[in-house]
Amino acid sequence: MKLFDVYPLYNVTPVKAEGCYVWDQKGDKYLDLYGGHGVISIGHTHPTYKAAIENQLSQIGFYSNAIQNPLQQELADKLGELSGCGEDYAVFLCSTGAEANENAIKVASFANQKSRIIAFKNGFHGRTSGAVSITDNKKIIAPINAHNPVTILPLNDIEAVKAEIAKGDVSSVIIEPIQGVGGLDMPTTAFLQEVRKITTENNVCLILDEVQSGYGRSGKFFAHQHHNIQPDIIPMAKGMGNGFPIGGVLIHKSIAPWFGMLGTTFGGSHLACAAGIAVLDVIKEGNLMQNVADINAYFKEQVVDLPGVKQIKGEGLMLGLEFDYEVGELRKQLIYDYKIFTGGAMNKNLLRILPPLNVTKADIDVFIVALKALL
Ligand code: PLP
Repeated sequence: MKLFDVYPLYNVTPVKAEGCYVWDQKGDKYLDLYGGHGVISIGHTHPTYKAAIENQLSQIGFYSNAIQNPLQQELADKLGELSGCGEDYAVFLCSTGAEANENAIKVASFANQKSRIIAFKNGFHGRTSGAVSITDNKKIIAPINAHNPVTILPLNDIEAVKAEIAKGDVSSVIIEPIQGVGGLDMPTTAFLQEVRKITTENNVCLILDEVQSGYGRSGKFFAHQHHNIQPDIIPMAKGMGNGFPIGGVLIHKSIAPWFGMLGTTFGGSHLACAAGIAVLDVIKEGNLMQNVADINAYFKEQVVDLPGVKQIKGEGLMLGLEFDYEVGELRKQLIYDYKIFTGGAMNKNLLRILPPLNVTKADIDVFIVALKALL
């Protein structure tokens, strides 16, 4: 059987990985500054993570959400503590970022019984029906997904948001605190705080999509915490399981659950929780959010004078180098000639850097040496 051919692939076949490095089948070693799209948070095959999953697998890997699973509460407790959100939110566990966003917009609509969603230009929220309809990319929206009541507005245009909310039918506003796929643009603190104010005044849910920016990637547990706002709903996923499919939605205590409101077969399985708990333990014990801040500062110092670099975008280890030209060729040279994985974005001039949160200065130096040779 053929694979349904939807992914343009690089000609690299990783077969082994450790920390910030992967090896292909020929034994060539690659520096991973992309983390499989911002997923690898604590480094590939981290010993704590491996032991937790192996141990759990030999106990019980899965049962449904119809039984008691104390691992879910352990995960929730550790997540609440490390994120600082434990007092104010409850968590619903699912498996992917798109699913987290589906649940987020659904919870909002249940809560205020309205349906229109405001999303933003260049935003990306996933590929499932609701999530893709709030994503600003017509190419990936099928006719069946095009009928949701969604309004896409320019980022940071507070007057446009006010005008739409004034119409009275807006259920939620969904914003990435740092745009990932779009290319590292960010809402300003003033914009986010004003959006928080008008959404509260008008019974509109504010959803901060932390699927990519959460779990320490920005240097704080959630990127919106740089802006001193409290969202109603926080979808998260990528870094949560270091590659094990796990997602979640933090839902503010002002929104009450009822039996059957949400559900999933796979979300919150024993194995997923074991992976998720190990990730939280390693982020905490390794003080990885501090490492993110330190490496961010070091990275910026190193790249500032590189020829052709127009701008350094993003926060923490969710970074973008914007060049004067398209970077497709540069990415190919980095991967094939210098054995370094980086990412691209909708903004074709942007090189995306999403390394594991425990990347070191020495790893960054490897990248800088390659860039200096190439530019
Ligand atoms: N939201 C954001 C901000 C993302 O960056 C992504 C994936 O890139 C998603 C949602 C979708 O996540 P998933 O691919 O796990 O469904």
